[in-house]
Amino acid sequence: MKLRRNVSLAGLTALRAGGPARYFTEVKTKGELKEAISTARGKKLPFFVLGGGSNVLFRDEGFPGLVVKMGFKGIEFKKGKRGKTLAIVGAGENWDGFVSKTVSKRLHGLENLSGIPGTVGASPIQNIGAYGAEAKDSILWVEVFDAKREKFFRLKNKKCLFGYRDSVFKKPAGRDYIVTGAAYLLSRGGRPNLKYKDLSECFPDAERFSPSPAAIRRAVLEIRRRKLPDWKKLGTAGSFFKNPVVSGRRFAALKKKYPAMQGFAEGRGMKVSLAWILDKVLNLNGLKLGKAGLFRRQPLVLVNCGGAKSEEIRKLAETVRKKVFSKTKIKIEFEVKVL
Ligand code: NAP
Repeated sequence: MKLRRNVSLAGLTALRAGGPARYFTEVKTKGELKEAISTARGKKLPFFVLGGGSNVLFRDEGFPGLVVKMGFKGIEFKKGKRGKTLAIVGAGENWDGFVSKTVSKRLHGLENLSGIPGTVGASPIQNIGAYGAEAKDSILWVEVFDAKREKFFRLKNKKCLFGYRDSVFKKPAGRDYIVTGAAYLLSRGGRPNLKYKDLSECFPDAERFSPSPAAIRRAVLEIRRRKLPDWKKLGTAGSFFKNPVVSGRRFAALKKKYPAMQGFAEGRGMKVSLAWILDKVLNLNGLKLGKAGLFRRQPLVLVNCGGAKSEEIRKLAETVRKKVFSKTKIKIEFEVKVL
């Protein structure tokens, strides 16, 4: 394991902001991961496991401990039960590269999740979702390293406590868990998931001609290209905020005030579109604060317009949070982890 000092994190995060890591290492094997964690322990320093950096914002002062870049690689396809295919993937693999491989094998399951930045390791942590599909719908198990007990084991889907952009990995019970890999159960000839309007509109003939995973992937990538910034060009972590889930009663009250507001059943509550609130209720599209801004075509997405400080991005996010609360009394949560 190679330990480096004072490594800039801005270039390793999608928002392209934040100071250096006091210590930094990349781990590619179980042995290296174990060594990294015990090194942090030995130095009595906090550690943070970094994937693709697409959902994290480090402070301008940097991270005072050890940043461990997850470099576990490998994609293996195996026969699963009942004619299904099992894909076993290292946490450090690029998510979209993996999705593209499943699609080229004509496997259904992940095509709606095309174009999401980040690594495979982040997919169960965030329970990433887009266009009506979520990682949890296809995950069979997640491989985990328990940093406290120093043990590797597999956590079955049910034990991951998946919820809306949520999982055990974000709760106190999973505080010591480091995701090192995951197994996805995929199928040939599965049914396309076209329940989101943007996507169903691309396939008016879907009842007669079921679109292939490749056709759905192309459509999703095109919708994303139209609506979202190109993260290869602009600093962005995608959606910075989670869509809020409110009680049915609260939703009815909001709907009375804003009749055009849409709600979608989510668990026991109703999920409301925060992008719609930011646009139609608060008129915040394109809001800028210094060099940080809300993306004009999709205000859930915060962008670094070039050289924004971490503090500017955080302040903009806090401003949005306050504005939403003062107008609607809804408390919104960050999807991005601010460290
Ligand atoms: P939209 O169609 O304008 O709808 C706004 C919100 O309403 C979405 O965020 C979505 O929630 C929810 N929604 C729409 N149709 C729904 C349905 N049939 N059932 C349940 N919920 C529904 O959406 P958009 O903002 O363009 O986003 C489309 C998809 O791309 C969403 O799934 C969104 O999560 C995803 N997206 C991802 C990122 C990212 O950075 N990864 C950024 C923007 C959008 P959900 O977000 O919970 O799906």
